[in-house]
Amino acid sequence: MWAERLQNSFKTQPRRVIAGVAFVLSVAGGGAFAIATVEADKASMPLSQVVESVSTLSLPSLSVEKPLQLFRSDITRSNDTADSLLSRLGIDDPEAAAYLRNARKAHQQLIGRAGRLVSIEGDANHRLTRLTARWAGEDSAHFTRWTLERTPEGLSDRFETAALTSSTRMGNGTIQSSLFAATDDANIPDSVASQLADIFAGDIDFHRALRKGDRFAVVDESLEADGEVLRTGRVLSAEFVNNGKTHQAFWIKEANAKEGGYFNADGVSLRRAYLASPLAFSRMTSGFKMRFHPILQTWRAHLGVDYAAPTGTPVRSVGQGIVDVAGNQGGFGNVVMVKHASGQTTVYAHLSRIYVKRGQPVAQGQTIGLVGATGWATGPHLHFEFRVNGQHKDPITMARQSIAVEVSAAAREQFKQHAALAKVELAAAASAQVSRAE
Ligand SMILES: [Zn+2]
Repeated sequence: MWAERLQNSFKTQPRRVIAGVAFVLSVAGGGAFAIATVEADKASMPLSQVVESVSTLSLPSLSVEKPLQLFRSDITRSNDTADSLLSRLGIDDPEAAAYLRNARKAHQQLIGRAGRLVSIEGDANHRLTRLTARWAGEDSAHFTRWTLERTPEGLSDRFETAALTSSTRMGNGTIQSSLFAATDDANIPDSVASQLADIFAGDIDFHRALRKGDRFAVVDESLEADGEVLRTGRVLSAEFVNNGKTHQAFWIKEANAKEGGYFNADGVSLRRAYLASPLAFSRMTSGFKMRFHPILQTWRAHLGVDYAAPTGTPVRSVGQGIVDVAGNQGGFGNVVMVKHASGQTTVYAHLSRIYVKRGQPVAQGQTIGLVGATGWATGPHLHFEFRVNGQHKDPITMARQSIAVEVSAAAREQFKQHAALAKVELAAAASAQVSRAE
C-alpha cells in the first residue's frame, strides 16, 4: 500500500509587488507662495516606485485562446545537444538553440546530463515561446528554476529560487518471493527498496537471509518542485522483520553533523564497520540465490560464501581498509584482499575486473571490481571470505559484531522524542491497509 499521508505545501504564489507610493500634498492654510513651493518640490521629487520581488515565481499559464500553442515535456539525455533537445521537444528555432548554447550555467545543467525534465511552450511555427527546467538547489530545501522566454524584445532568461514541497508517504509489504516483488506489489519505487537494503545492510544480508513472510514498513519523503518530483523518497523511518527479528531505523541528522544517518530506537547507529554483503542489493542481483561452490561444494570445505550474480555486477569492499592483494592468484582467479583493523581481512575472488591497486586505501562500500568467473569457477559468482588473523569467519557474524556509533549525549533527548513520533508513524505504515492505488 502506498498512501499520500501529508502534503506540506510551501508553494509560493506568483507574486510581484509593485507599490506606487503616492505623495499626499496637503496644503493647509498656505498662501500662493507656499503652493508654488510645494509644486516645485513635487516636480523635482518624482513618484517613488518600490519594486519588491518576493521570490518571483511565474508559473506557466495555460492559455486557452491560442489553440495552436505547443506544450511538451521531455527528459534530457546524456548525449543531448541544445539542438537535439529542442528538436525532440518539437521546437525548430535556431535562435533559441543558440541562446541555450550560450547560456552557460543553464547549458551546464541541461546538456550532457541525463534525467532532467524540460518543459516547453511553442507557437504554431515551432518557435520557442518558453522553456522551463528545474533542479535541486544548493541547500536541501530549495530548487532552482530556469526560464527561457520570448518577449517582444527577444529571448531572455532568468533564474529563480523557490522552496521545495515535501510529501511523506508510507508503505508496507510482505516478502513472498523477493524484496523487489514485494515492493512492486506495494507500488514502492526501486530507489526506496534499495535504500531499505542499504539501511539494514549491517544487520541483514539481503542476498542470503531473506525469508518468505518477512515484513517491512517504510515512511519516506519526496521533494517536489512545481509538482515535479526532484528527489524521490528518502527513507525517514523503516522497519524490517527478518526471520522473526525486528529491526528499526530512524533517520536523523545531528545539528553539528555533516551527514545524517540511521539509528535504531536505542539511538545506536545502524552503520557498522562492515556491511553484511559485498554486493549491493539491486533488482539485478535480487533474483540470484546463494549457491554452493561449484567445485568445493560446501561452505565448510571452501571457507567462503558464494554469491551468484551476473558478470559485471559491482563488488564493494565491506569495510574501510587498505588493499593487500590485487591480481591473479590460481584458483581465486582475479582476487582482491582488503586488510582492515585488528588483523581482519576480506577476500573477493573470481573477479572479471579489478579497480584497485595494492596499497590503496578503500572506503566502506567502494567498488573494488566486478563479478566474473576467473580461476576455478564454472559460472559467474563472487567468492567472499572473512578472515581474522588467518582464521575463516562467517561474514554476517563479523558484520553484526562490529562496533557502532551512538547518538551523541547532547542529541540524545531530542532523538528520543523524534524516535517516539517516528515509531507512531511507522506503526501506522505497518498497519495501513493494502490497497493498490492507481
Ligand atoms: Zn567460493
